Formats: sequence, C-alpha cells, structure tokens
Amino acid sequence: MKVLVTGGMGFIGSNFIRHILSNYDNIQITNIDKLSLGSNIENLKDIDVDRYRFVRGDIADFRLVKTLMKDVDAIVNVAAETHVDRSISNPMLFLESNTIGTFALLEEARKADISTFLQVSTDEVHGTTPKDIFFDEVDSLNPSNPYSASKAAADMFVTSYHKTYGLKTMITRCTNNFGPYQSPEKFLPKIVIRAILNLKIPIYGTGQQIRDWIYVNDHCKAVDLVLRKGKAGETYNISAGNELKNVTVAEKILNLLEKPNDLIEFVEDRPGHDARYSLNSTKIRSQLGWTPQYNFENGLKTIVDWYTENEGWWKPLASEKTLHPTPWKLKW
Ligand code: NAD
Repeated sequence: MKVLVTGGMGFIGSNFIRHILSNYDNIQITNIDKLSLGSNIENLKDIDVDRYRFVRGDIADFRLVKTLMKDVDAIVNVAAETHVDRSISNPMLFLESNTIGTFALLEEARKADISTFLQVSTDEVHGTTPKDIFFDEVDSLNPSNPYSASKAAADMFVTSYHKTYGLKTMITRCTNNFGPYQSPEKFLPKIVIRAILNLKIPIYGTGQQIRDWIYVNDHCKAVDLVLRKGKAGETYNISAGNELKNVTVAEKILNLLEKPNDLIEFVEDRPGHDARYSLNSTKIRSQLGWTPQYNFENGLKTIVDWYTENEGWWKPLASEKTLHPTPWKLKW
C-alpha cells in the first residue's frame, strides 16, 4: 500500500509516520510538507528506509499534488497551519493551507481515482462545548477563530466530495494532543520550556478553559485504525477523557519540574477563546475497537522528561517570539 501523508514534518504527522513505519513492512510513505513554522525537519531525521520519502512542497500547489497522485493508494491529510494565535494575526495563511490545500488534495484525488482520503480534523470545529455535554460526530460546526473556521470549511469539502463524487473519505476529529516533537509555540511545550528556563508561565484569562488531553500515540493508532477499517463518508471522534483546566495543567507541569506555582502569570485572554472542548468518542470505541492506552499523569511525566532531555531539539526553535506570552498580538 502506498500512502501520501501530508504535514509529516509536524508534531502529529511525524509521530504518525513513525507509527506506520514501525508497525507495517508493506506500507510505503510519501511525506509532503511545506516546512512552515510548526514543522521541524529534525523530527524524522533518523528515518532512513526505502519505504519512506520526503517531498518539500505545498498541498495547495495543484500541479505538484497532481504529480504525487500517480503513485498513491490512500491520502492521510495531516498538514495544516495549526496555531490559533497565529491564525488571529495572519488568517489568510490558514485559509490557503487548511481549506484550499485540502481542496487541492480532494480535487486531484478525485481525478486520479484514489481509493481512500482521510482528513485529520479537530474538536475545535464545533466551537466551545457547553457544560455537561460532549459533542457527537453529527453535531453542528460552529468555529470561533480563523484556524477552526478553516478546518471546519475543509471538513465540509471532504464530506461534499464523498456525497457528490463518491470519493471514499473519512474524517477523524481529535482533542488536544501532547507528546514528543510538538512545536514550542504550543500550550504544553511552551509551559515546560519556559519553566525549564525559569521564565513566567503566561496563562490566558483566568486559566479556567477546559481541554481534553490525549497522548499523541493514541491519536496515531486511532487514525491508523480508521484508515484500515473506517467506513466511507463517516466521521470518527477521538478522545481519551482527560478534561483539565489550563491552569491545572500548568500546575501539574510545574510540580513535575519542582518549580513554584507563583511562576504562573495570568495575562490578557485571547480573542474568541473557547471555554471548553469535549467530544464523545463512543463510535470509534464501539465500532472499531479503539481504546486509549496512555494514562494522562504518566504521559505528562514522560513528556516533561522528554523536553528536559531534548534541549538540543527545542532550543533552536525556542525564540523569544515563539515563546511570547501573547503571540496573537504579534505580526506573523
Ligand atoms: P503542526 O503544526 O505541528 O504540523 C503541521 C504540519 O503541516 C507542519 O509540518 C507544516 O509545515 C505542515 N504544513 C502546513 N501547511 C502546509 C501546506 N500548505 N503544505 C504542506 N505542508 C503544510 O500541527 P499538528 O499539531 O501536528 O497538527 C496536525 C493536524 O492535526 C492538523 O490538521 C490539526 O488540525 C490536527 N489536530 C491537531 C491537534 C493537536 O492537539 N495538535 C488536535 C486535533 C487535530
């Protein structure tokens, strides 16, 4: 089987490629990545097998995408501009990569008669989840920021290509991931890195926003399962049931690093900041037999240790701008 993985130099894409290459001998992977800000070529630098090749390029480049379709059975579209803060400062980039990029892949996949198209999406497309409920796959999309709007638009194109052209598409929607190789600009690595550097830990608003955390390997296994066993036209939610307030996650990290809680500094809240994300993942559990393997507390310790031991990986990326307390106010 030949799989085109997009965005494989990013956090989830690189973990997904590692997962596939170490679990299957008969899958060949082409990784197309633009090497934009969330990426790092170091993420897969130790991968040296004939079954893997890297193409630097943009998924919104129709001509390039068309050439890649010649040799593909399935597409897993992981590529996206993903930092909400940067989407507030520079939304056009998000529309281009996340929506038009997905559209380019769908168009060329349809023309080339590709058998499977899997779109990796996010809980954020629903907007904030009211207290005491979980969103199901069929609940309406109601995004709050340019990042989630561009992802929601992409999801709608994916569904339309199944309904209109009969392309075998599937969508996965996952909650907040944590794990190795996540860019220092993101919430969890930023806290770990700033704490290691004894810098103040910026928490937006009062830190009461709730996110449901999942270890990246559990997400990768779920995407793999949907790729092999998912049904055409279906969406699968992926969540592990670790809902925590942002300030609580920060306190847990500081505790693991033996740093004081008074490093925490409450800063101005981000515009359009959703209060809570929560998904019901009963469908993937009951229909495809997926269950998360990682416990949040153990996973968090593993990841705090990983960033502590891999300073050489994050140091070149951890500029003042990347670690800024309120990045949405900067020009990106
Ligand atoms: P990331 O920013 O670490 O990686 C994204 C990768 O996509 C980068 O390597 C980037 O260079 C590449 N990319 C961006 N635009 C591109 C383009 N136009 N052409 C080619 N490559 C391009 O992000 P991530 O956290 O790994 O997220 C990956 C996917 O998973 C995204 O689609 C995101 O919406 C989804 N997701 C992420 C999370 C999370 O918590 N991180 C949760 C749910 C869903």
